Amino acid sequence: MNILILGSGGREHALAWAVLQNPKCDKLIVAPGNAGIAAIAECASFDINDGDAVLSFVEENAIEFVIIGPEAPLAAGVADTLRAANVLTFGPSKAAAQLEASKNFTKEICDASGAPTAAYAHFTQADAAKDYIRAQGAPIVVKADGLAAGKGVIVAMTEAEALDAIDDMFGGEFGAAGAEVVIEEFMEGEEASWFILCDGENVLPVGTAQDHKRVGDGDTGPNTGGMGAYSPAPVMDDAIVQKAMDEIVKPTVVEMAKRGMPYQGVLYAGFMIKDGQPRLVEYNCRFGDPECQVLMMRLGAQALDLLIATAEGTLDQAQVNWADDHAITVVMAANGYPAAYKKGTEIKGLDALSADSNRMVFHAGTGSKDGAIVATGGRVLNVTARGASLQEARDAAYAMVDQIDWPEGFNRTDIGWRAL
Ligand code: AMP
Repeated sequence: MNILILGSGGREHALAWAVLQNPKCDKLIVAPGNAGIAAIAECASFDINDGDAVLSFVEENAIEFVIIGPEAPLAAGVADTLRAANVLTFGPSKAAAQLEASKNFTKEICDASGAPTAAYAHFTQADAAKDYIRAQGAPIVVKADGLAAGKGVIVAMTEAEALDAIDDMFGGEFGAAGAEVVIEEFMEGEEASWFILCDGENVLPVGTAQDHKRVGDGDTGPNTGGMGAYSPAPVMDDAIVQKAMDEIVKPTVVEMAKRGMPYQGVLYAGFMIKDGQPRLVEYNCRFGDPECQVLMMRLGAQALDLLIATAEGTLDQAQVNWADDHAITVVMAANGYPAAYKKGTEIKGLDALSADSNRMVFHAGTGSKDGAIVATGGRVLNVTARGASLQEARDAAYAMVDQIDWPEGFNRTDIGWRAL
């Protein structure tokens, strides 16, 4: 099979790495890719958010299966264009991707399907939103309705902070994404993520994970895109998983099908768990980054079979062959991230690291310059390892981190602490 993966992050490097282990893959192209991906697959450059451009590339290169990594092409309807041309595609339609692209849409789906989630109200006017905040009091959560690159959520511990967030959102800080806001009850508890493949009708879970959003050790400092993750997440025990499936995930999938927008792809569900009860925080319509890195390390070659079954609508006949293992990824980021950071600094020591099915450095923001690997983004490397225990995986990952020579980068030293 000739396969195309869209995207350029650590997530897509991990997907590419897993896909290449499966003998069904004859040829793999990644667009646009990065320096790490270029070391294992061919990379191509075109506008991945333009359905017609993707389709032309697919036709010119005899691509038989397209895996869409990030949310932007999904929200732009690239999957619709491909499927309309009978191209086998992994990823939801534009309509179904509203589960990520519109917070209000997801809340309506929860209402209609009875899924437990935070109480909420939806506003298009700042004054009404502020009245609601004053009536509810803090803590309270203010969310831009649309896609805001993970930055459109303000967990306000005071009323003043929440009112400021309303001014920012209606003042255009998040562009069109903030023209509508959702204001939510603050939920307490422990967060975890669950990744479920859906073929429109059937569902197949492919692992739980927990990530670390704060930049500093001990979960301190500003929020980031994610500084590390591990799988499985112990808080998602069998009883919680069963409840999450019966009360939240399955009702969502049924409701989406009922509305004529069957969900096909990976449903990334974020939960808040308290007193044995999961409540939905959010859905995303693609794999998490960096969670995908730990999931792919655990799934290995079978990942491709599962993604194909998702796209073909045969998940009822698929199953995951789980090993009793744990995986962890430690993000290395450029000094200064998530605020301003320098680009173009050289990273040494990567060649000396031995990669195998249990150890791999997935690249996120990297490029190559005069034969050297250089940092081109904020989050740059995902140092990933698998082991029989979380401790074993963690020790292996940090042993690799120690061998990477990049003075202009940093990492958290406590990934996985909650589970250990
Ligand atoms: P979201 O993009 O909706 O996942 O929100 C980003 C983060 O904000 C989540 O991972 C939570 O840590 C936090 N968050 C979102 N909604 C709530 C809520 N209703 N109560 C408490 N924390 C929340």
